[in-house]
Amino acid sequence: MSGLDELYREVILDHYRNPRRRGTLSGDYIHAEGNNPSCGDEFFLDIEVSGDTITDAAMQGYGCSISQASGSMMMDKIVGMPMSDLRELIHNFKLMMSIEEGDSPVDEDRPGSVLGDLEALQGVRKFPVRIKCADLPWATLTDALDQVSG
Ligand code: ZN
Repeated sequence: MSGLDELYREVILDHYRNPRRRGTLSGDYIHAEGNNPSCGDEFFLDIEVSGDTITDAAMQGYGCSISQASGSMMMDKIVGMPMSDLRELIHNFKLMMSIEEGDSPVDEDRPGSVLGDLEALQGVRKFPVRIKCADLPWATLTDALDQVSG
């Protein structure tokens, strides 16, 4: 295993073992649920939105390390992000995973264009069945954001 693979594996395992923002919200929040039957993964997301920005978020998830680590990394990034940056982050993640096609202009000044720990998941592209695992939290987030705008 190359050094980079090892580093990536460590990042994924750390998020899997110590998921960020695990729990539920109380009060006024938006709830979305997703599941990936091909692997048995589940993801439950609560977000609190004020104006155009996610001000708080919590998740519960069950399933494989790829789905849960992807969700934990996502939770690390989304709080404090305005909708436009969130949509950009989702798009950039899907570009990296070859789920969507298009340009990915990386601009370090824009929070939606910096994937950070999420880059550890790019090795998953080699395993098409597992791409759905990595995408599950993001599909759930998209569902939650659609509830905000719709
Ligand atoms: Zn899975």
